[in-house]
Amino acid sequence: MKTDWADAKREVINPHPVTTFVVSTDSISIVKSFRSPSVDCGSTQFKSQLGSLSFTPKMSSSSESRAITVIGAGVIGLTTALLLSKDARNKVLVIAEFMPGDYDIGYASPWAGANFFPTAEQGTLQAQLEQETWKVLKHLASSVPEACVHFQEAVVYTREEDVGLAGPLFVGPGKEPWWKEVCRVVRSEELPPGIAAATKFKTACINPALYLPYLVSECRRRGVIFRRQKVGNISDAQEVCHPNGKITDILVNATGLGSKTLKGVEDSTLFPVRGQAVLVENDPGYMMAVTSGRDGKRLGYCMTRAAGGGTILGGCFQTDNVESTADFNLASQFMKTVVDLCPSIVKPGQGIEGLKIIRHGVGLRPMRRDGPRIELDDQNKTIIHCYGHGSYGYQTSWASAERVVKLVRETEQAQQPTLKSPQ
Ligand SMILES: Cc1cc2nc3c(=O)[nH]c(=O)nc-3n(C[C@H](O)[C@H](O)[C@H](O)COP(=O)(O)OP(=O)(O)OC[C@H]3O[C@@H](n4cnc5c(N)ncnc54)[C@H](O)[C@@H]3O)c2cc1C
Repeated sequence: MKTDWADAKREVINPHPVTTFVVSTDSISIVKSFRSPSVDCGSTQFKSQLGSLSFTPKMSSSSESRAITVIGAGVIGLTTALLLSKDARNKVLVIAEFMPGDYDIGYASPWAGANFFPTAEQGTLQAQLEQETWKVLKHLASSVPEACVHFQEAVVYTREEDVGLAGPLFVGPGKEPWWKEVCRVVRSEELPPGIAAATKFKTACINPALYLPYLVSECRRRGVIFRRQKVGNISDAQEVCHPNGKITDILVNATGLGSKTLKGVEDSTLFPVRGQAVLVENDPGYMMAVTSGRDGKRLGYCMTRAAGGGTILGGCFQTDNVESTADFNLASQFMKTVVDLCPSIVKPGQGIEGLKIIRHGVGLRPMRRDGPRIELDDQNKTIIHCYGHGSYGYQTSWASAERVVKLVRETEQAQQPTLKSPQ
């Protein structure tokens, strides 16, 4: 296979840019205070000091601080906490069972590759989130070395038997992806045997082992507090006491797959999709992904993480399988797929024995039937949900967090008092 990367040195940029995306929060409109700032933790009873007004006594005023509790310290919870903390009035507390540094099959974020591959159908929420998040990841890769995000070339292959069956990332022969302006459709004479179509482009890859702590550091710099705590019922988190003595004004639920079992949420449309990966020392010099084939057994990808993070080889996409032990036969299959299609990962003439394995890993993607849930709770308008990001949590993280910030603002506005005639 000829790999002419010079032709592909163009960035994946949004051909339909959403020009309004801003990482920092805007100012939040002024509302009156109807809640005692010195309320005791554990108490949810408040008294009106203003006889002529009726109100919902839930929210601090915009001139005083708002106690915001985020449940979850995955990429979604951390990014959300960071954006919220950019408004000095927000006092943000992150509570989570697992934190960066931990590895658990149910804690998806550390297991991700994690790269940016546009996988959404155009016109969907996911596509919007991807396009908006790309701008931030691009900025981090080009200007913020401590974030440990870098640009990488990528090639994406569609097997002959998978034409028309895989998602939008994998285009068929004669077809062009919606991001055609920033990729090169590979000429048929360059394609390896069994491959019907391919595109090459430049995109970003994150090193989660360093990126998640980076997000924590940025949060800490802005005063975010972290507390290890497993929540049984979402209503318990509403009673959580902040260090300044206030209980939660607004709760953000960023528990990923945890929302399937978290009482008070129990979202039955969430389901785990098992991913298995191998971390190796080898560096092929570019990222690769290929469709799985009719037998479903030849899915493969590799991506080299930034800042010495090694290369992740995957993978699988096993719905409702929660086996935490790595399947070494499966690992051999996808390692072979990667070596066949990305031969520069080993020395000439070598097979998978040329891979220098550091460790195997298994994580569950928090997939949701209708895509991510980013909205106010149906019953309780001080709870904002942000979970269910499936296999694309990193590449949709910043835009998802920005939507939560907007919902916080709207929640506050909705809680303004309605004037009533004095009784
Ligand atoms: C193998 C693999 C490869 C992937 N590759 C990519 C990729 O290349 N690009 C990409 O964008 N995405 C990728 N993903 C998907 C990505 O990892 C997820 O979408 C993302 O990590 C989800 O983040 P999250 O914060 O919603 O959930 P999580 O990272 O799972 O975090 C959930 C948090 O909530 C906490 N929590 C849950 N329940 C409770 C509770 N009851 N009480 C307290 N705390 C609780 C957890 O402890 C944790 O802190 C991949 C995933 C896997 C498994």
